[in-house]
Amino acid sequence: MKAAVLKGPHSVVLEDIARPHVVDPTDVVLRVERTAICGTDLHPYESRLELEDDVVLGHEFLGTIVEAGSAVTRFSEGDRVVASCVVSCGACYWCRRNNPGRCAGVRIFGMGITFGDLVGGQAEYVLVPNADFTLKAIPDGADDDDMLFVGDIITTGYEAVRRSFKPGDSVAIVGAGPVGLCAAMSANVLGASQVFVIDRVPARLKEAEQYGAIPINFDEVDPQDAIYDLTDWRGADLVVDAVGHESALISSTRVVAAGGTISIPGAYVEESIALPFGELWVKGITIEGGVANIINYMDEVTALIVAGKLKPSTLISHRMGLSEVSEAYQMFHEREATKIVLDPTK
Ligand SMILES: [Zn+2]
Ligand SMILES: [Zn+2]
Repeated sequence: MKAAVLKGPHSVVLEDIARPHVVDPTDVVLRVERTAICGTDLHPYESRLELEDDVVLGHEFLGTIVEAGSAVTRFSEGDRVVASCVVSCGACYWCRRNNPGRCAGVRIFGMGITFGDLVGGQAEYVLVPNADFTLKAIPDGADDDDMLFVGDIITTGYEAVRRSFKPGDSVAIVGAGPVGLCAAMSANVLGASQVFVIDRVPARLKEAEQYGAIPINFDEVDPQDAIYDLTDWRGADLVVDAVGHESALISSTRVVAAGGTISIPGAYVEESIALPFGELWVKGITIEGGVANIINYMDEVTALIVAGKLKPSTLISHRMGLSEVSEAYQMFHEREATKIVLDPTK
């Protein structure tokens, strides 16, 4: 089968590799029908992760089950499903307490040995372990282009808001990338009083505005002044750091209201960073982060998609064939595309 294989820094090529088959009785194999490139894929692409040779990339995909292990009870051949990009064991202390992102057995598709050596889904077929816990059915009538993102970005953005959101909260989102924009959509759907999106790229801020957010360009205004002005000098009750960089976290501490929460879907791989800790302490800020508990929120997000309230497919900027995966990664890396969907049949 054809698969997107990372050969080295900034080098992804389409290669012929062996098709996967069920190994454990809890596995299924999917024929991949759509797969997307994600900002997280740039961690391996730009060699910020320790990697073995020839990693098959991709953790955002959906498709049809073509093979199901004997212990899979919730799904069978022919079912159309979307996979959580994070695979957990489903049985440990954390999984049983609805915290699958803390599972010691956490694995992420296509992220190499650092995240459990799971072969990715930017391929014609993919093996999904622990299928009963990892997969969700695609309901009739739901748009595949929306459902593709339920396994990661829309659900990651949704959880980042939802886990500590109180009705009427003002929400500031740092970073207007796909997860930031998904957080903005989610904040509106959940009933935020105001949604601010902070970035410096005018096109992305314009997109944020289309999702009902107030755009704040930090090249033009001081985000703290702008947000304090619009919140009776309180700041934002909930701040989402959708970037995962020290500067974004420092901005977050500046714009968050006293007693508020900073929620961090952006991935931090650094050992340590410098933070204005006195300010965090005085304001009494809660910080939430960690690998997303995707599986906990997939049903809720799917229901909102079916109801027409969330439409993450609006983020798709490019559609390409899997055969064009090298160019697709180049474009994505050059920030020429917001979201690229790949068709494995082309
Ligand atoms: Zn992703
Ligand atoms: Zn577990």
